[in-house]
Amino acid sequence: MDKKKIAFIGLGIMGKPMSKNLLNAGYELTVYDLNAASIEEVVSCGAKAAGSAAEAVKGCGIAITMLPNSPHVKTAVMGENGVLEGACPGMILIDMSSIAPLASQEICKACEKAGVEMLDAPVSGGEPKAIDGTLSIMIGGKKEVYEEVKDLLLCMGSSAVYCGSIGAGNTTKLANQIVVALNIAACSEAFTLAKAAGVDPQMVYEAIRGGLAGSTVMDAKVPMMIADNEKPGFKIDLHIKDLNNAMDTGHGVGVPLPLTAQVMEMFQLLHADGKGQADHSALVKYYEKLSGVSVSGKE
Ligand code: NAD
Repeated sequence: MDKKKIAFIGLGIMGKPMSKNLLNAGYELTVYDLNAASIEEVVSCGAKAAGSAAEAVKGCGIAITMLPNSPHVKTAVMGENGVLEGACPGMILIDMSSIAPLASQEICKACEKAGVEMLDAPVSGGEPKAIDGTLSIMIGGKKEVYEEVKDLLLCMGSSAVYCGSIGAGNTTKLANQIVVALNIAACSEAFTLAKAAGVDPQMVYEAIRGGLAGSTVMDAKVPMMIADNEKPGFKIDLHIKDLNNAMDTGHGVGVPLPLTAQVMEMFQLLHADGKGQADHSALVKYYEKLSGVSVSGKE
């Protein structure tokens, strides 16, 4: 089976630039998404279009899924006209979506029955790093299957780390999402305090970004808070999804996640307020509601 032929399913904020990087690296791509305009955009860069996931994977050695959450991946892989209807034994499915580790294990079992290998390989880095091909990729599954596709993964990312058996990639990603969410909440709280106490948030950012408090999250998200830029990036609704998956996983292994629970409720308030599609840095608006202080200075 030709491992240079890839089916790419899910062409959203992340899937579009990731698929374009594979085309640029010389892979042959057949693409599918529920949204026809997204398919057209990637086809204009050299991919072939498919009318379903089953059609996309025909003749491909590799299938990649980049979809919102566990139910979407289950539908696209195990559902009607899904990946497993069109896949040949020996194909490798790389699910790069961020989903629940238990869902990865369930999908992997269905793949095994069809003779298909599966890795869970979620990513961190967001749209800018998806465009640059510098994502951080965390992988679960059989190590020898990972070795087979490592070069392909490194066309989309600058680091690929093998984390353990199937589901380990998504467990790692949940840890990542907790750190990112709590870091955004800490920045929101700190910059609201600075603004309320009369110090320009831009000055605070310049002063502290190079010290211990500085972080990739601070550099990516605080300028958005200061500019009142809510264009996603990473949507609040997707972060609620990740924190829900983290809580479920935590409860499953008997670990309380008190800070995660608190930030999730902060995101829930914004979701209820109609901001589910805003970038997760709009968490600063939660503090605006509490304090009446706007970090951007805009009403
Ligand atoms: P998105 O909402 O922009 O894109 C998802 C795409 O999947 C959409 O184009 C949608 O039409 C398509 N889709 C949904 N169900 C489908 C189905 N059954 N068949 C075919 N296509 C289907 O989401 P995104 O921001 O690209 O995120 C994708 C995944 O990557 C999520 O799990 C997210 O948590 C993760 N992620 C996102 C970011 C980010 O910054 N956006 C960063 C790291 C990881």
